[in-house]
Amino acid sequence: MNIRVIPDIEVAETSLDLAEHEPVDPADVYRRLTGLAPFAARIDADADFDRHIFACIISVAASEGGALTERLGLSRANLEALTSKFFGARLPLPLEEGPAASASDLDESELVRDILLEHLSPRDADGEWLATMIARRALEPNHLWEDLGLRNRSELTRLMERRFASLAARNDKNMRWKRFIYRLMCENDGFVMCATPVCSNCADYHGCFGEEEGISRLSSDRPGKSPPGA
Ligand code: SF4
Repeated sequence: MNIRVIPDIEVAETSLDLAEHEPVDPADVYRRLTGLAPFAARIDADADFDRHIFACIISVAASEGGALTERLGLSRANLEALTSKFFGARLPLPLEEGPAASASDLDESELVRDILLEHLSPRDADGEWLATMIARRALEPNHLWEDLGLRNRSELTRLMERRFASLAARNDKNMRWKRFIYRLMCENDGFVMCATPVCSNCADYHGCFGEEEGISRLSSDRPGKSPPGA
């Protein structure tokens, strides 16, 4: 039996005061959005999973400082609509202050988003927000699941299978997700990412198929992260 443990929350208790745009603890943002610590959230039910995913992405993006809209790739209107729908809260912060994305970053994330949208099912607003956010977060340097703020890679695999099923089905060799999407992007543009025609002969094999190990960016165990309250 699925137990829904992410509670409905009161708007007044969940407002986020990020007005000064200083980096904040992503676990704290998650807690203020959902009412739970990130690793306490149960996500068996799809509705809880969706809410968890959005909370993770917003939390990790907010922890980086700068304009939250830019870190998420969303317009202010879309971010407000998302938070209103999933968290019952408006985000009382100057969402658009901070450096704008470069033209090359915008182009790149648009190409990734287009691939995701091509495979989005159903084609609804939630999925379009997700595609946009994933594409923007893919510009960050870590494993994609880490830069989405997820707890582990399997959450990203579940997300891909749930919302981008036809794309996920093509990753039948379990390639790293960012590599997989970028390889498709190269193919769509007529480029070849691969140095050899056969993966087993490729010097970059580990980069494509190696374990995507890491510690969640929402975890207090991540190196360099201060324990809560420190
Ligand atoms: S392992 Fe090498 S050949 Fe295979 S997908 Fe990666 S880059 Fe291409």
